[in-house]
Amino acid sequence: MRRRIGCRAWKAFDERDRQAIRSQLAAGLAARCPRCHTVLEARPDSRLFAAFPAGVDGFDLDCRSCRLFHAEIRHTDRSLYALRLRRLAAAVLRA
Ligand SMILES: [Zn+2]
Repeated sequence: MRRRIGCRAWKAFDERDRQAIRSQLAAGLAARCPRCHTVLEARPDSRLFAAFPAGVDGFDLDCRSCRLFHAEIRHTDRSLYALRLRRLAAAVLRA
């Protein structure tokens, strides 16, 4: 098996970095990587969509040099409904 150089997996920013990015977004600024200060590149979809119920809206902000991403996920009416159904089903199963 051959290993490709520079082929590292993408990782999510840790919680401290995520908060820094969120406060930049909330201030209406172009988000920069808290580690290397490169402007983050937005992707129209998110790597984490699979982990959320159908209907969520969001995007990833990528730092190519650190290979880190920040997933900004927003719930919509449809995904909140799906989430509520899922919680209800879990509560029924526990009862
Ligand atoms: Zn960076």
